[in-house]
Amino acid sequence: MPDEMSRRLILERGDGGARHFEDAVPDLSSPVIGILGTGDFSRSLARRLVASGYQVVVGSRTPTRFVALFPEEAEVTTQLEAANKADLIFVAVYPEHHSTLMDLKQTLAGKTLVDVSNSLSINHKGPSNAELLADYFPGSFVVKGFNTVSAWTLQMGARDGGRQVFLCSNSQTAKNLVKSICHRMGFVPVDMGLLSSSLEIENLPLYLFPSWRLPVLCMLILFIFFYLYNFVQDVLHPFITQHKGAFYKMPIEVVNVTLPSVALVMLALVYLPGLLAAVLQLWSGTKYNRFPNWLDRWLTSRKQLGLCSFLCAALHAVYSLCLPLRKSAQFINMAYKQKSMEDFSVDEEVWRKELYLSVGIMALGLLSLLAVTSLPSVAGTINWREFSFIQSTLGYCALFMATVHTLFYGWNHAFVLARYHFYMPPTFVLVLVLPFVVLLGRAALCLPCVARRLRKIRRGWERNRHIRFMLPAEDCCNGVEDVSNV
Ligand code: NAP
Repeated sequence: MPDEMSRRLILERGDGGARHFEDAVPDLSSPVIGILGTGDFSRSLARRLVASGYQVVVGSRTPTRFVALFPEEAEVTTQLEAANKADLIFVAVYPEHHSTLMDLKQTLAGKTLVDVSNSLSINHKGPSNAELLADYFPGSFVVKGFNTVSAWTLQMGARDGGRQVFLCSNSQTAKNLVKSICHRMGFVPVDMGLLSSSLEIENLPLYLFPSWRLPVLCMLILFIFFYLYNFVQDVLHPFITQHKGAFYKMPIEVVNVTLPSVALVMLALVYLPGLLAAVLQLWSGTKYNRFPNWLDRWLTSRKQLGLCSFLCAALHAVYSLCLPLRKSAQFINMAYKQKSMEDFSVDEEVWRKELYLSVGIMALGLLSLLAVTSLPSVAGTINWREFSFIQSTLGYCALFMATVHTLFYGWNHAFVLARYHFYMPPTFVLVLVLPFVVLLGRAALCLPCVARRLRKIRRGWERNRHIRFMLPAEDCCNGVEDVSNV
């Protein structure tokens, strides 16, 4: 059977071409689905619903402004009209704006509301957004769900992300209705029970590798310890006792003896808790006594500890492969330059090559991680926050490492006129322009004032709209132009 979700859904408005829409004929017997809000989530959801054959009506505060962004088959109208026409309504606005929908209370009574909202941070105490929404609309049946599905997944279809949709509600009928919509859109509903589970569902997309924290911390501490230890032994000691400068060993040779040490100790840490558990059982003579909490946590972290050990071992293999390559390159270089080994070892060229290789290997390691997590089967097992942490934060780290790698490759050649054949700069200079622009742009976005403003905008804040609401009507009309530049 061809994958329903992989078909192109809808041509853009204004394409003018023929529409092949045989798989998206509205089914008049199925419920009319309303969506409040016209943001990213709403647009992707509307497309997927229309493609699944639903009649869709979208409610906006300013319908004319966003009508062109939705498929023609979806009606974009006022919030009140959408609430009136729809049998089931997705509330695709941020939770802090739920209260602005209170005027619709009467209209929404008796209808199913699907709360798709996520919070900004993990909420352990409650109440959840869905519970608050249920308090605002006591006459409606609130279902929590779809918050773990990103707008991207909705747009691409369930084939390119997690297929599971976690649902909970106090009304079984409302939940069953949302389940059937899930099925028809190609997703797999997972019943999480009553609305009290909504806090757990809302926290799901906010976790950032909770089970990896301890193993990664452990790996970092071990790395720092062994690195310093090897530094004292291989670099500081010859420098103090024999006045021999071996600082050039820091980027590769010291790292390369540190990595296997960490890998081995981490591997031992995988098996140690099992031994301790056995000793405890022998000691107490029963298997029914609970292990202490620290041992429980340790036992459940064994997979992550093992994978960290594997990472260090793999990096060690790459570094070790580089060593003979680097030595032969040094040898050829030495023969060419007719220099003594002593001279060569302190040459800045040695530093350049060591750093060049080391940073390059790190960049490759990070890029491999990005590649692996972009596979749908892997991406489906991590939440959106974890996915964007790897693809965005670690992605920028990879870009930074790769840029530094190229800088070490070029070294000072950018300033050597002889390298400019026909006045053309060396290739690496051209290559560096775009990464520099991107990295500087990213650094600018991290400035607290810029980051704060961007965060607000991404949560739905609009300068003009905000100012209009803050000012009395007359001032607003007269002064928007002036104040909008503030
Ligand atoms: P968005 O692009 O900022 O859209 C939010 C929409 O809310 C606006 O377009 C606006 O539409 C509407 N709105 C209604 N009252 C508002 C008010 N008082 N102030 C500001 N906006 C108001 O956000 P989104 O990314 O679509 O997210 C919408 C909801 O889906 C959020 O609760 C979010 O947590 C959840 N969600 C999003 C994703 C995702 O990938 N984006 C994934 C899972 C869950 P009108 O101006 O037309 O009224």
